[in-house]
Amino acid sequence: MQNTEIKTTCSYCGVGCGIIVKNDSKNGVTVAGDKDHPVNKGMLCSKGMNLHYVVNDTSDRILYPEMRWSKSHPKERVSWDNALDRAAAVFSSIIKKHGPDSVGFYISGQCLTEEYYLVNKLVKGFLKTNNIDTNSRLCMSSAVAGYKKTFGEDSVPIAYADIELADTFLITGANPAFCHPILFRRIEQHKEKNPKTKIIVIDPRRTDSAMAADLHLQILPGTDIVLYHAIGKRLIEKGYVDSDFVKNHTENYQLYKEMVCNSSFEKASKLCGVSVSDIHLAAEIIGKAKGFISMWAMGLNQSAIGVDKNTALLNLSLVTGQIGKPGSGPFSLTGQPNAMGGREVGGMANLLAVHKELNNPQHRKEVADFWGVESISEKPGLTATEMFDALESGKMKAIWIICTNPLVSLPDARRVEKALANAKFVVVQDISHNADTAKFADLLLPAAGWLEKEGTMTNSERRISYLPKGINAPGEALSDVEILLNFAKKMKFSGFNFNNTEAVYKEYCLMTKGTNIDVSYLNYSRLKNEGTFQWPVPDYGHPGTPRLFADKKFFTPSQKAIFNIPTSIENTSALPSVQYPFILTTGRIRDQWHTMTKTGKVSRLMTHTPSPVLEINPIDAYKSEIKNGDIVVISSKNGEVRVKAKVTDTIKEGVLFLPMHWGKQLDNDLNRTNNLTNTIVDPISKEPDFKYTTVSVTKY
Ligand code: SF4
Repeated sequence: MQNTEIKTTCSYCGVGCGIIVKNDSKNGVTVAGDKDHPVNKGMLCSKGMNLHYVVNDTSDRILYPEMRWSKSHPKERVSWDNALDRAAAVFSSIIKKHGPDSVGFYISGQCLTEEYYLVNKLVKGFLKTNNIDTNSRLCMSSAVAGYKKTFGEDSVPIAYADIELADTFLITGANPAFCHPILFRRIEQHKEKNPKTKIIVIDPRRTDSAMAADLHLQILPGTDIVLYHAIGKRLIEKGYVDSDFVKNHTENYQLYKEMVCNSSFEKASKLCGVSVSDIHLAAEIIGKAKGFISMWAMGLNQSAIGVDKNTALLNLSLVTGQIGKPGSGPFSLTGQPNAMGGREVGGMANLLAVHKELNNPQHRKEVADFWGVESISEKPGLTATEMFDALESGKMKAIWIICTNPLVSLPDARRVEKALANAKFVVVQDISHNADTAKFADLLLPAAGWLEKEGTMTNSERRISYLPKGINAPGEALSDVEILLNFAKKMKFSGFNFNNTEAVYKEYCLMTKGTNIDVSYLNYSRLKNEGTFQWPVPDYGHPGTPRLFADKKFFTPSQKAIFNIPTSIENTSALPSVQYPFILTTGRIRDQWHTMTKTGKVSRLMTHTPSPVLEINPIDAYKSEIKNGDIVVISSKNGEVRVKAKVTDTIKEGVLFLPMHWGKQLDNDLNRTNNLTNTIVDPISKEPDFKYTTVSVTKY
């Protein structure tokens, strides 16, 4: 380690906790929460406090490039030069023969902003395809679309500091007690000091978050919009509308009012499985709030109607005028540490850098001019699931996968396996041999991990952090920036004359000048010396912007926020049937992260939930003759999973829950939840419907 102590940011969830890393000459690095950090004030959750085990244990690391000459050959060690020569030769020849859209890149919300920027420039600007998407498609794309439809741009309005200023929290489709633990701890601490603070949780499961709530609405999956509309109707009926705000700063209120008031509470109650009195109580709590914050995550986003769910929830902040003022506003909880940074640099198939739109000819021209290329293709790129469909059908021939493990994390995982097997050329750039996807690599590139490279990230509240390099990567592993720059050089692309990561950051910052996410004056030096900043930071002395829309001016053409009317109020997923009578919902457990390539190697993180279990309600278990601890087979039209049953009344009748983390073990894939999940996506955000797959369950 170059310094004895450095300050950095946790590599896991979007909370973005500050960490102090120290060098322990005997055992490697140690970690502790940074007491001076504005996010976590010294606290760390189980995942963060065990990060040093992940760094110190290099037994699983990919140490040098490996390549195979054909699918029937074993991979062998090669030099970086040979590896990138082959990558450049294969990509060039496929593009020459089949066109630029025959290749694609699938990247990650764990990439640092500089890496994200660089790979987007490389693919959209120079390879001339928009086939670059990220696993944020599985996470935040519905929230992004919802923000754009309501506020005119992808903009998280508030800050964690608003938590301590609020008196009412609506947590919906999220379990922050497990998935954003330090943020939830801040809510709990605030409630301990201010016992009148109210927490409402909407979730089909009585999660740890729900157990801490004053009111838990145990909703039937897929009926969120119906419930938000019923709450909206009650707010209107009881006179809790902020008429001034609605009149002067919003559009479409009358349409919204007519829509929500046309439906009855009794009908809503029947559809949602929530009593009329609880709907009224929720509206009463929200209506009386001085500071109202709504928080949500994958329960809304990962849905066939994810964008409509988002806008329906945002409508509640608009009705009550609870936005742009202290302690109030909607707050999407980002799953990954830099999903937000990725959005800033255009890290999805339909986006361009600095929140510009691919489908806008003027935006394409501005970005092309900035990069010094003739044009950017107007053809929409393939999204995450579409790319693997295209590999399976043969339309796409080659894929480059960076820092993500789609074989475990994408829906209908067996189909992803077929798609990768069918690809002509697969490049996997990762840190660990534990990533299931690495087994399909024709070219395996060793990447540096957390603490082994420098760069920046943006957390859920728009807070940009600088992460310094503290230790050298093992073996021949290189930072993703170095790998991408070397590849660009092999491709003989101009425009990649960056001497280091900071130069990449500077170019991105320059691009933000004059935009709503302006960080053109936020350089590495300020980040290193002054700490973290929330964007925008539009001049040298600017302290950053904790709260957006304080002036009630939104990013829409009229500067007003829009009440959106959903295209579909009811769920459009395949509904339960005689063959598949249960609704399966999936999610995270407390101590694991994504596909367990990092947390899975820390033994103390395996004790909380050592293996996947199916949560089933006692009534469903009785009817299906399943007892606690029985091995059960869960089947959907896509595949099956075989795990132990946990009979628990914390889950709603008719609903089952499986954790999403486990992949294939040896030749057995029966722990892999995504064998089951359906391939439906939201029509706008293209985010998969992970929270609603119909299944059957039987005792094994
Ligand atoms: Fe890391 Fe998230 Fe835990 Fe903070 S809450 S320590 S960012 S995993």
